[in-house]
Amino acid sequence: MDIYLKVLIILISYIFILYLFKIFKVGKKISNRNCNNCCPECLEHKNKISPLTRIQKRKSDILLIILTFNIFDLKRYKCRYCGWTGLRWS
Ligand SMILES: [Zn+2]
Repeated sequence: MDIYLKVLIILISYIFILYLFKIFKVGKKISNRNCNNCCPECLEHKNKISPLTRIQKRKSDILLIILTFNIFDLKRYKCRYCGWTGLRWS
């Protein structure tokens, strides 16, 4: 098979997977009545609602943003109670 065709197929499937992430809300902010950006760790394991606060992005985050063509608008958050840090998108 043509090498360019292979690259094209891989690229299309990559973008398709990114959109699946978006459709299935993988890594999306958790919001409910009580807070609009809850800590996933506290909510799942401690049954507690704790809002996340924004922290500075890492260099690896910027790479990830470039690799995902910035379709997610990723931001890094930290939980004040359990210390969870991670990327979420809105
Ligand atoms: Zn937490």
